[in-house]
Amino acid sequence: MKMILLLVTAVVRLVYPDPSLQDSVKTGQVKYEYGEPANAMQQNIHDRLQALQTLERLSEFLSPLRLPRPLTLKVQGCNGQVNAHYWRDQVTVCYEYFDFLLKVAPQMPTPEGLTRFQALAGMTADVFLHETGHAVFDMLEIPFMGREEDAADEFSAYVQLRRSKADARHLILGVAYLGSKQAQQEMASMDQQADVQELPEQSYYKVH
Ligand SMILES: [Zn+2]
Repeated sequence: MKMILLLVTAVVRLVYPDPSLQDSVKTGQVKYEYGEPANAMQQNIHDRLQALQTLERLSEFLSPLRLPRPLTLKVQGCNGQVNAHYWRDQVTVCYEYFDFLLKVAPQMPTPEGLTRFQALAGMTADVFLHETGHAVFDMLEIPFMGREEDAADEFSAYVQLRRSKADARHLILGVAYLGSKQAQQEMASMDQQADVQELPEQSYYKVH
């Protein structure tokens, strides 16, 4: 992965489409916004995220990013859609997506020693970092080879691995946990092909 990132960086330097972009970028561009909750579930999640200062911490963590314009991290209600996306300088994660994470997070520590809180923290960091990856590619006009989704995942993993060893381990285990839940649910869904109802893992894929 490091090799891929080195390659991407080298390519970016060679073919930076807009030379003036390099002069206009600066740090401290990541803002945040807690959207108004529309129901009790959203209010509960809104209050939890605020109590943990989730967006404040993420925006501070991402403040060294050198961007040409402000990027807003926003949580908001999405009329029941389990979703997250990046669009026009804004990363949006729906309250419904956190509700989904609360449902899939382990109640007891996993065999690897991952607690419920650590799993939730890892999955939350991952969705924001993945979408921030899309934002960085867009704002810095970074070309990439292959699928943008894979590049955004690599961006997320790369940033997480730059944390302290213990933090990085918990974050990555959190992401891996979500992946394993999806795989289990996929196996289950193969037995229910006639069922047209959307499964949580399908909703998760939509996120990306
Ligand atoms: Zn994506």
